[in-house]
Amino acid sequence: MSPSSEPYTLPPCFGTTGKEEQLLDGSLWDNRFKDLDQNGSVCVDSAAPALTWVRSKTRVLTKVPTKPEDLPAWNYDGSSCGQAPGDDSEVYIVPRTIYKDPFRGGDNIIVMCDTYEPPRVNPDGSVSSIKPLPTNTRAACAEVMEKVKDEEPWFGIEQEYTLLNARTKWPLGWPTNGFPGPQGPYYCAAGSGAAIGRELIESHLKACMYAGVLISGVNAEVMPAQWEYQVGPCTGIKMGDDLWMSRYIMYRLAELYNIEVTFDPKPVAGDWNGAGGHTNFSSKATRAAGTGWQAIQDQIAKLGKRHAVHIAAYGEGNERRLTGKHETSSMDDFSWGVANRGCSIRVGRMVPVEKCGYYEDRRPASNLDPYVVTRLIVESALLM
Ligand code: ADP
Ligand code: MN
Ligand code: MN
Ligand code: MN
Ligand code: MN
Repeated sequence: MSPSSEPYTLPPCFGTTGKEEQLLDGSLWDNRFKDLDQNGSVCVDSAAPALTWVRSKTRVLTKVPTKPEDLPAWNYDGSSCGQAPGDDSEVYIVPRTIYKDPFRGGDNIIVMCDTYEPPRVNPDGSVSSIKPLPTNTRAACAEVMEKVKDEEPWFGIEQEYTLLNARTKWPLGWPTNGFPGPQGPYYCAAGSGAAIGRELIESHLKACMYAGVLISGVNAEVMPAQWEYQVGPCTGIKMGDDLWMSRYIMYRLAELYNIEVTFDPKPVAGDWNGAGGHTNFSSKATRAAGTGWQAIQDQIAKLGKRHAVHIAAYGEGNERRLTGKHETSSMDDFSWGVANRGCSIRVGRMVPVEKCGYYEDRRPASNLDPYVVTRLIVESALLM
């Protein structure tokens, strides 16, 4: 999903002020007002996953909140984003996790929210409780994570994504109407023409660390203009919250650089790598010295029995990516192996040696919903 309006660059409005910042596309960003004092007020940017996108709106509070419970619930117009009918359009958003706002700085925050049908007055005068919207995948995930909290489920997601020229929708830095040289030199590359858009990647890394997203690394990918960052290991529901927040920050930063970000699992057809969302998992049992390796094999056997359920929920368009080529497994068969990148599940080389550790589910696409994927892994591996 992507916006279709033409990218534009604002002309400088009142001449130069010395506070402009030069953006990647060469334009200047007027930054005069960023550091003005806020008179004690704080901006709360409320973000919520809406289908495959993240949406947000800002409100200003006069007291600095320190925990989600300090924040009032809020609402937005669900009919404007396909989440509610026009005649009953209110969507209730509940603040869940607070992050520092890297764009506004200071005491300002971004809060990850999830979405509900608002409470209603019943015919008998009582008030009904709020109900998660069908698109709220967080609620079910939080419930499952609460159930298994003693098993301490840890996740790490490798988020791959592709940068596009916002005007042509063609990968950033690729020749117009043409292709760069074949894959090979780009993975983990340095050098212009090989590592395309690094300024954005570096800004994103810093912004995530500042915000409190547990980002754990970045690398350039096999296809030029494709990159990866890793988030984790995160315990339970924090995986979904942090990954969605990292995507929100990516979209916001890309605005500044006039770049379009796509999480499509196969942005260019043909002999170009697709984009995945490898999901690494461990639990108390798999991390236990000595017995962990057996626990990993038991869990993988259980995951194999629900292959079809997982595949169906691992990202839209994943069939264009999971072809059995380009370091992927086939969609139809479940397989696992040590150090094998052509399998559904890969176990690290050191796991049989150390007899404990974690494993990698390589099936999820780059556009995975982390609330869905982490819930399914826990249900299959720990609750079946
Ligand atoms: P790859 O070799 O597949 O490219 P990466 O280094 O990109 O692997 O990513 C590894 C991921 O595994 C990271 O997100 C990291 O947080 C996560 N991870 C590391 N240790 C654990 C663990 N014990 N349990 C779950 N995830 C883990
Ligand atoms: Mn309005
Ligand atoms: Mn990786
Ligand atoms: Mn990768
Ligand atoms: Mn991986």
